Amino acid sequence: MKFTKEVVTALLLLVLAVPIGLATGALGWALFAATLAWIGLQWFEFRKAQTWAARPLRPPANANRSWYALSITPYRMLQRERVRSRQFMTRLREVMALVEVIPDAVIILNETGEIEGFNAAAQRLLHLKESDRGIGLAAVVRSPDFVTFLREGVNNAILEFPSPFDADKTLEARSFSVEENRFVVLVRDNTELNRLLTMRQNFIANVSHELRTPLTVVSGYLETIADDSQPDDLRLSLIDRLTSPIGRIRSLVDDLLLLTRLESTPMPAELDPVSMPQLISNAVQEVQGLAHSRDQITINCTSNAKVLGIEAELYSVCVNLLSNALRYSQEGTPVEISWQLVDGDTTSTEVASDAASQSTVRLMVKDAGVGIAPEHLHRITERFYRVDMADARTRGGTGLGLAIVKHVLRRHNSELHVSSVVGEGSEFYCDFTAAKLTDLAAESKLLDNQSSQAHAQA
Ligand code: ADP
Repeated sequence: MKFTKEVVTALLLLVLAVPIGLATGALGWALFAATLAWIGLQWFEFRKAQTWAARPLRPPANANRSWYALSITPYRMLQRERVRSRQFMTRLREVMALVEVIPDAVIILNETGEIEGFNAAAQRLLHLKESDRGIGLAAVVRSPDFVTFLREGVNNAILEFPSPFDADKTLEARSFSVEENRFVVLVRDNTELNRLLTMRQNFIANVSHELRTPLTVVSGYLETIADDSQPDDLRLSLIDRLTSPIGRIRSLVDDLLLLTRLESTPMPAELDPVSMPQLISNAVQEVQGLAHSRDQITINCTSNAKVLGIEAELYSVCVNLLSNALRYSQEGTPVEISWQLVDGDTTSTEVASDAASQSTVRLMVKDAGVGIAPEHLHRITERFYRVDMADARTRGGTGLGLAIVKHVLRRHNSELHVSSVVGEGSEFYCDFTAAKLTDLAAESKLLDNQSSQAHAQA
């Protein structure tokens, strides 16, 4: 059936050639011409098929059905393969994009350990370059441990090794065999993880150490109190003296619980406006016990702006900063706590004529105490970090005060700044921007008044 058209064409040519041949008396030539015409037509179709075969992704142009049938089947198969390969390429591109964003280095190696491919993280962590393709990974990353690890080629093996490119970094490598002769090596930066693990270990060691000291005192006292042979006066006086170490244990546990809560509970969506002058006044009252005289602390609150925050947490900021200022000050030197409007630039304390929306209000605690040397400033908010351990012990405190302050301020979109000079004193301050404040309208009026007064004077 498929050759119907050719048969019909041949018959037509025959029907034409026979009468013409008979009429002209040259039947042989007529039949010869008809055959030539038929071959010409087939040749024409063959050329079309040939042109299509050179570019088989275009639809075949053969008008003749049998020739068309010859091309259309491979053409359709090619189209199906094309769709499949497009889908495959899309998937491949998705996988490649995924591999590219992975923060870990992914390197594909052939059976001899030569680099076949790698992602962006591999360029960053292992300094691999495009020109390294085809080179052995061990020759590029020259770390003895890593080279041995690659040579052994154990599936799913893990190795931690110092980065040969950055002495401060620790890398972790894993290797997997993916196909019979291929390996994937994953390398990640473990520096931060190790730092956190060390921090946790240190933290546990510090907590144990801090608790052991007062517990040793308590158990020593209790032994004497339980000893009938000891004079009653002594045993009674020891019961009184138990208050101090027990208080210390309680403060430490309270601070630890507060820190844990600060880290684990998210800020509520709805926050209450907290009146800072009131809160500061209450905090000053609480720390009066540490002051040498009632007038050692000066309160300087000139802003009525309220902080959108958690009152108890802001209160602990004030109490911690004030108690530090008192504890690290020589007898009777002044301590000042202030709540004042400053301009948007947090490094300047000058009052500005900005609109309320750009206002910043600063909480500052200033003392004229022992001060802190510059090399300690960046570490004093670490848990249990003390500038002078022995001194801190005699002055009291849990070593967690500034860590709590830092966390609370972070939760209130602020941060702790410190400037200090040894022997002259310290200033601890934090700024609250308009986004965290309410009742700023009155402040902007105050600013405008001050600005117009300044202009008048000028
Ligand atoms: P601590 O309970 O030991 O005071 P903090 O976290 O409150 O712990 O403070 C950490 C360290 O920072 C203190 O041990 C002290 O060395 C130093 N420090 C804090 N505040 C002051 C201050 N106002 N003046 C001098 N040093 C301070």
